[in-house]
Amino acid sequence: MTFDDICINENIKRRLTEAAEKGNVSHAYIFEGSACIDKETIALCFVKAILCEQQCGRGCDTCLTCIKLNHGNYEDLILIGADGNSIKDEAIENMQERLRNKPFGARNIVIMSDADTMTLRAQNRLLKTLEEPTPGTVMILLSENAENLTDTIRSRCILYRFSYEVNESDESMCLLAQQLSVLLLKGSPFYLLSQKVKPVTEDKGSALAFLDALETEYGRLLRESVTNVAGGVGNAVAGDAETVYSDESFAESPAALYRRHIFDAIAAVEEARRNLQRNMGVGYALKCMMLKIGG
Ligand SMILES: [Zn+2]
Repeated sequence: MTFDDICINENIKRRLTEAAEKGNVSHAYIFEGSACIDKETIALCFVKAILCEQQCGRGCDTCLTCIKLNHGNYEDLILIGADGNSIKDEAIENMQERLRNKPFGARNIVIMSDADTMTLRAQNRLLKTLEEPTPGTVMILLSENAENLTDTIRSRCILYRFSYEVNESDESMCLLAQQLSVLLLKGSPFYLLSQKVKPVTEDKGSALAFLDALETEYGRLLRESVTNVAGGVGNAVAGDAETVYSDESFAESPAALYRRHIFDAIAAVEEARRNLQRNMGVGYALKCMMLKIGG
């Protein structure tokens, strides 16, 4: 996967691509984003964009550098993550030791996952590296909430916040989520649903964006159903509730059943998101979710 394949915050991607192309790369970045955003992949793609031998600014996935980065055996890449619940002082000390060595290639690169779990001591130690960076070194701190980092760390890094928030340019994604949310509740045939969902099964980023849009849509349907009941519409829930639940033999009211179905759908969407984070195949994760909701 290269930088071009990541479907997220195009404006940020453009700025990072330009920086990589022009060799105008900062020594330290914070990539902030919620747990459902695969910040490690974004960071790795950015590193490929910086170092790629064939397509600077983009990454090619075929040159030796890109291949080594993909396999986690690029000599100048230092990966740091939490040891237990936190990133400790020793981890930063080891990193500094490695940074004292000249890189085999153009630059030493550090990708730090869970940066906001750094102990205060670790952050204070890191500060020294940020204040006096070794030439060419690029550090990327990945964080769910940069507020957990000290002001002094934040002020020495360029911060980019990634989100799958749906904006106007994602209109087609919203439309798809709108259609699918209702079709799934109705229990439409799987072959029909799988055709519709196909465009978002191309990559993990699109699938995650779709799941976010779908969850937003179910949230809206849920609010709508509550408002309709409170407004005196009673059990005649708006939209498709009556067509979905016309069976009088249910003990629960159709409105209550409808809402329960939406709650279950939201749980299935969240499960699919977790499955994608665990690297389950995109197509399979979405299929499981659709079968769960469609019943
Ligand atoms: Zn390459």
